Amino acid sequence: MFETDDHKSLRETVRSFAEGEIAPRVAWMESAQTVDVQSSALIARQGWLGVTIPSEYGGMGAGHLAKTIVIEELARVSGAMGAMVQASQLGAAKIIHYGTEEQKRLWLPRIASGDWLPTIAVTEEESGGNVLDMRASARRDGDYWVLNGRKKYVGNSHLGGPHGVVVRTGAEAAGSRSLSAFLVEDNRVGFQVVPHQPSLGLHGFSFGDLVMDDVRIPADNMIGSEGDGLAVAYSSSILYGRPNLTAVALGIHQALLEETVRFAKERRRRDEPLAKLPTIEQRIGQINERLMTARTLAYQAAHMLDHGQACDDELISAKYRGVESLMESVLATMKIHAAAGLRRDRCIERLVRDAFHIDAPAGTGDIQLRRLGESALGQGKGQWSCRLVHVTALPPSSVPSEAAQEPAA
Ligand SMILES: Cc1cc2nc3c(=O)[nH]c(=O)nc-3n(C[C@H](O)[C@H](O)[C@H](O)COP(=O)(O)OP(=O)(O)OC[C@H]3O[C@@H](n4cnc5c(N)ncnc54)[C@H](O)[C@@H]3O)c2cc1C
Repeated sequence: MFETDDHKSLRETVRSFAEGEIAPRVAWMESAQTVDVQSSALIARQGWLGVTIPSEYGGMGAGHLAKTIVIEELARVSGAMGAMVQASQLGAAKIIHYGTEEQKRLWLPRIASGDWLPTIAVTEEESGGNVLDMRASARRDGDYWVLNGRKKYVGNSHLGGPHGVVVRTGAEAAGSRSLSAFLVEDNRVGFQVVPHQPSLGLHGFSFGDLVMDDVRIPADNMIGSEGDGLAVAYSSSILYGRPNLTAVALGIHQALLEETVRFAKERRRRDEPLAKLPTIEQRIGQINERLMTARTLAYQAAHMLDHGQACDDELISAKYRGVESLMESVLATMKIHAAAGLRRDRCIERLVRDAFHIDAPAGTGDIQLRRLGESALGQGKGQWSCRLVHVTALPPSSVPSEAAQEPAA
């Protein structure tokens, strides 16, 4: 319904690449449990990290639905590589929306060409869903800023650099103006990326800790103005993080449906495929329905972003529903697989582990529901999509193809 012919052709290209180039490396990612630098670089070189970067800065300028499709198709084959592309988009967002013209001309072409996998480092041990509680700080020293503190769970931490870091530059009482964002090169004295620690899933993806101990960086490395840090963090998370994680969830959900169908057709009980059992068929039907609903919400929200419409609530509900329905399908597929679902030689257990990584980033389900509650109660603080969406909105001619708009018979 929302896809143009260009979107369909992009999907075919990414799917064929993912199946040909990335699928053969998934077993290695699972066994090595380390950052897959090679696959990340290969994907970056396709130009897809620049999918929403305007073409004047070397990007594809193809918009948010195209981005959703790229991430979804990669995540269908490897949740880790879907996550890598989603994290890179977060890192690009801060420069697209808050960079100076000089920073855009310097950094956006490097992201688009795959030479730089950017990051955005906001989370700390004591401040996950509550960004204003962060402790990492920067103090002005002449033409420099001196940064101290530790960031956690930073996507692409072992691949990227310079890193996008949000820290405190003002007193807590300054509230939303108390934070600022900086680009921090990884070779600065006092800067350290903590060695990779494997997590439950997304093996191959890098997300780890950054430590800053009196790191001096030039004042020109600031992104936006002093006090823009919260806006940088929120815009990355709201306009990019939420739809990106929704796309990773879609890819995992799609793979989970395909694998469950394959299993239910192949597995035989009393001389018949498992799929013949009414309970199994019904559970598969429910997985399919959840996936279709999640995809419609995700594409609608991305389509609205592409067309410059206010859509914060749509982005939130697409992420919330996408993650919740994926977790419901995880439970259903584990019931269908029974003991076979536990085996390490089947991909279903990988998909299940990967699914657990999607709720927390860009705000847990609890936070999303709070925002939707505030919106319904008229207590929202304005729409981020309204403020920033014009930068990446597509030209008015980019409408879905006629075939895509035809009603079903
Ligand atoms: C795969 C992955 C990639 C990530 N990438 C990045 C990245 O690139 N950059 C980055 O900075 N961070 C990143 N993160 C971190 C992510 O943003 C945090 O995990 C998230 O903000 C939640 O923080 P937390 O895990 O510390 O949970 P907490 O905030 O400690 O939450 C714990 C529990 O308390 C609840 N809770 C907390 N506060 C509230 C509240 N105010 N109202 C209601 N409930 C609340 C939560 O819902 C949850 O159930 C990533 C995380 C993952 C898993």
